[in-house]
Amino acid sequence: MESINPVTGEPLDEYETHDTDDIDTALSNAETAFDDWSQQSIAHRGTLLQKTAERLDERVEEYAELMTREMGKPIEQARAEVKKCAWVCEYYAETAAEHLQDEVIESDPDARTLVSYEPLGPILAIMPWNFPFWQAFRFIAPNLAAGNVGLLKHASNVPGCALAIEAVLEDAGLPEGVFQTLLISSSEVDPIIEDDRVAGVTLTGSEGAGRAVGRKAGEQLKPSVLELGGSDPFVVLDDAPIEATAERGAFARLQNTGQSCIAAKRFIVHDAVYDEFVDAFVDEVEALTVGDPMDEATDIGPMARPDLREDLDDQIERTLDAGAELLTGGEAVDGEGAYYQPTVLTEVPSDSAAATEETFGPVASVTRVSDEQEAIEVANDTDFGLGASVWTSDLDRGEAFARRFEAGLCFVNELVKSDPRLPFGGVKNSGYGRELSRHGIREFVNAKTIWVQ
Ligand code: NDP
Repeated sequence: MESINPVTGEPLDEYETHDTDDIDTALSNAETAFDDWSQQSIAHRGTLLQKTAERLDERVEEYAELMTREMGKPIEQARAEVKKCAWVCEYYAETAAEHLQDEVIESDPDARTLVSYEPLGPILAIMPWNFPFWQAFRFIAPNLAAGNVGLLKHASNVPGCALAIEAVLEDAGLPEGVFQTLLISSSEVDPIIEDDRVAGVTLTGSEGAGRAVGRKAGEQLKPSVLELGGSDPFVVLDDAPIEATAERGAFARLQNTGQSCIAAKRFIVHDAVYDEFVDAFVDEVEALTVGDPMDEATDIGPMARPDLREDLDDQIERTLDAGAELLTGGEAVDGEGAYYQPTVLTEVPSDSAAATEETFGPVASVTRVSDEQEAIEVANDTDFGLGASVWTSDLDRGEAFARRFEAGLCFVNELVKSDPRLPFGGVKNSGYGRELSRHGIREFVNAKTIWVQ
């Protein structure tokens, strides 16, 4: 397995992949580790997560540079990602006991009845490259706190991150087998899901990968969580403060070089403020610096892989062929690396690629609507349902609007973001299940009814 620097297209490092014997050993280690780990107290498991948080905090620079080298994330955003991983470890170290405490339910007067939340076993996590630390840690922290053990199949373009995650947990004192990285291709995943030693599977990634893994998990009657793509609407109502909204909109679309499932992708703007918003938004987009992601001044780095850039370029071309108008950008940047110009499209037909598919890169599409009713109809006119935001000066109006979104994460006057304290996940083709918060830690547990009479 090779990691490639997306800035230059040059190889960075080579890694030995795991073969079927290695996978078998890892599964046995996981099974053995679970026997002991699941019996430890939540407080003990939390102590080790707290130590992991400390290691992450100490090594922010090292891990941030690793991510930036492997997938091109601007360095400041990479640092923030490492700190957020420390936060989610601390969060579950502090709250797991409360989230998993027995739930006593008054039922029969002659019995004591309660629900006990018990871990299931080894859980396979299939993770993407776009937030290579965060996506893994938001699985690791709740699941290890709950007493499960983890196996990570990370994306093939971030093997260095995958191994660093395993190493930091080991350094923090996690027993052998509690968390293991498998350097394998996606074609080797099915037999792992089929293996009796694996109790469940979670995937963050594309709809296609989600369908494949969900199908296999269903066939094996194993629980699964799927966090798939999004085409989040960003609705600007007629009373929104335009300058500030345009500035947040550009960040919501372009952070992580637009490669985020919860990036704002479709800007839906009330006719009364449309021209003003589009002017301000294009100014914001054009003011961003595209460059070397190691450079502190860079806002937008390269895309993570050349094939992802080709896919994005193809989506933009198809959208323009369908009749959209190009306001800025629209082409790959000449020279080394997988750079793409930040792009704004308007007059985007509702059946075109940018309106119907997930655009995973620096391109925003802007649509004009005449009133709130049309805005919510356009916002919900998608097969995805991950995040959504609405921008207005009237908080009651914003909240009422947010309740009408068909999405899992609905924000008023803030960009869609994940937070350890709040559930994260989608509806429709964005997947099912929830990560983070009390909901996330209860995904891979046996909610066991106990009746004592
Ligand atoms: P994928 O969905 O292909 O990859 C995500 C993870 O799933 C990787 O670990 C990948 O492994 C694995 N995987 C892929 N197919 C299967 C399968 N059939 N069975 C088991 N595991 C599988 O995403 P890409 O990197 O190819 O990106 C393509 C598009 O996916 C993006 O343009 C974007 O639209 C979407 N995406 C969404 C993400 C999100 O956060 N929701 C994150 C990343 C991508 P491997 O790398 O070895 O192929």
